[in-house]
Amino acid sequence: MSDYLIKTVCFEGQIRAYAVCATETVSEAQRRHDTWSASSAALGRTMVGTVLLGATLKGDDKMTVKVEGNGPVGPIIVDGNGKGTTKGYITNTKVSLPPNELGKIDVKGAVGTEGSLTVIKDLGLKDTFSGTVPLISGELGEDFTYYMANSEQVPSAIGLSVLVDTDDSIKAAGGFMIQVMPDATNETITLLEEKIAEMPLVSSLLDDGESPEQILARIMGEDNVKVLEKMPIKFECDCSKERFATAIIALGADEIQSMIDEDHGAEAECHFCGKHYHYSEADLEELKAETLLK
Ligand SMILES: [Zn+2]
Repeated sequence: MSDYLIKTVCFEGQIRAYAVCATETVSEAQRRHDTWSASSAALGRTMVGTVLLGATLKGDDKMTVKVEGNGPVGPIIVDGNGKGTTKGYITNTKVSLPPNELGKIDVKGAVGTEGSLTVIKDLGLKDTFSGTVPLISGELGEDFTYYMANSEQVPSAIGLSVLVDTDDSIKAAGGFMIQVMPDATNETITLLEEKIAEMPLVSSLLDDGESPEQILARIMGEDNVKVLEKMPIKFECDCSKERFATAIIALGADEIQSMIDEDHGAEAECHFCGKHYHYSEADLEELKAETLLK
């Protein structure tokens, strides 16, 4: 199954719900960064959360999610947008920890329980929005939920789930976001709380072959879900040799000259996708010439 997200309204508009299968997307991040289990789960959950929040944006709008906890993985940075593409990295890729008391990957231990979750939205026309909340759990699902309630004032339930195989590859990844609209009845809310509490992990359901539609039907009841849109999701980085060249030009002619004299070239690496770019002495001479044109 290729990755996709569904946007739905449920119970005649009382609830908005999103569900996503992001197994390939998170796998791509795991392969590119060669992450170990706890790093994979922490980065993967942040990516799934970002994709779900990104689904509320309009097409060209973009966002960045930063998770900065006091655990061993260090800061996690993930970009998302209204088109369903995402990219991201985690500072320490090689973290694996003993399983937690439930026998699961200890994401809380990896991320840490103190720190913050920040969402920065670029809504075009130089309009930006930024919200920060303290980490309340470190497991990330609760932290994204807390962000939605406190920073965006939308009571929500967010589930983020990544299943890592014994060889560190990703078996399944996905999640859901359920948003309670102002006219939702107490009966609906209570029903959903019960269903969510008894539900297996989304990644296990995806691993068993369930679709995002089936996962939401489990929570809502099949007849209560109306799918509005189905959006493909994928890992995609927009870096290029030209983009890094702009950063090199900004260093100025003297700095570029010393790269030529001392290093006989330059290397750049994209944090988001791990791609390397090489600049030969000739490339650097050209970039130096460009600084002189400015
Ligand atoms: Zn890149």
